[in-house]
Formats: sequence, structure tokens, C-alpha cells
Amino acid sequence: MIEAKRPVLAIDFDDVLVETMEPLCFFHNKMYGTRFSAASSWSFDLEEVWGCSVEEVHRRLDEFHTSSLHDESLPAKGAHEALTKFATLFELHMVTSRPDRYRERTAPLLERHFPDLFSEFHFGKEFGTKGRHFSKANVCQDIQAVMLIDDGLHNAEEVAGVGIPTLLFDRPWNQTGILPSLVTRVHSWQGQKGVYGRVMDLYRTILRD
Ligand SMILES: [Mg+2]
Repeated sequence: MIEAKRPVLAIDFDDVLVETMEPLCFFHNKMYGTRFSAASSWSFDLEEVWGCSVEEVHRRLDEFHTSSLHDESLPAKGAHEALTKFATLFELHMVTSRPDRYRERTAPLLERHFPDLFSEFHFGKEFGTKGRHFSKANVCQDIQAVMLIDDGLHNAEEVAGVGIPTLLFDRPWNQTGILPSLVTRVHSWQGQKGVYGRVMDLYRTILRD
């Protein structure tokens, strides 16, 4: 008997699985004498928060991603426990906009914090000089994801736009008035109103259909 394929759950890396904004701000403050924090990072577009060019943001991100501070980033609270349960019901795919050359610093961090839980890692394209450089909607459609969990409002809107429900992890940089109907804001990995409860609700819906 061929075992039925489990539904695919797509999960973002930065500030969903692993808390990277806080160490990034700490690194930036140390290097550039600023006083940023994750709480004061009001935009997903760091050039707006940091007041520099997009090219300079990419250069500073490269510095951070090859630093030991990056490698010491901690997992999001409650993520491991929820994912241990999800991995028995879903195929877990990490979907990040990080360019592929960050893979060798990203994969070990994932394996350290979430060993043997993910089936595949999907990386983005090289940073562009203008606008977004990568479509998560395309990836989510290619892998037939039944849901995306992300902290980027643009990703949530785009993926919901192709009919895939998205959980938007509440962060200072994704605040907005009205969300599309397929996007649900969550404040935690834990609890019935958190990622855990929402994903388990989705699983029961899939079973019923
Ligand atoms: Mg993210």
C-alpha cells in the first residue's frame, strides 16, 4: 500500500522559527552605534528603519549572517513543541526569502533547534536592488502548501491572494488595519488562538474534506 502524502505546511525562518531581529539589532547597534531593538523596528524594510540605502542594508545583513551572533539566535518560544506534533500530521517545509548563499549558516541553526522535523528547506533568490526579489506564493503553490506561517505582511497578502491561508505572526513590522480574509494574526506558537490551535483546526478541516 502506498502511504498518502501528508499535507505540506510552509513555515518562514526569520522571526517565526528563529528569533533573529533581536540579535540583528544588537549586532547593528554594536557595529554602527545605533539603539535599535526588535520592538522599535516598525517596518519590514530595514532601509526605512536604519535610514540607509537598500544596498547598504544588504551589506550589513551579510555581515550579520556571517557573525557568531547570528549563529547564537534562539528558537521562538513554543515552536519546537508545536512542530513536534505537526511533523506527525504534516510535511514541514521551511520557506525563506534568505538568498541561497545563506543556506550554510541557516540549515545548521534549523537542525540544531528543530532536529529531524523538516523535510525540505526552500531559499530565495539573490538580493535585488529594487523591491522584493522573491515570491513565496510561487513556492507555496509549487510545493502545494496548505498553509504558510510568516511574519511578512507582503508575504501573507501575496500567498493569501493565491488562495492559501496564512498565519501572520504578530510583530511590530507587520501592523496594519485590515487583513485579507485568508490571513489570521497570531501572537504565539502556543494555545488555541496561537499557531498550535490554528494549525490543528486546519488539520481537522482537511480530514473532514
Ligand atoms: Mg520572517
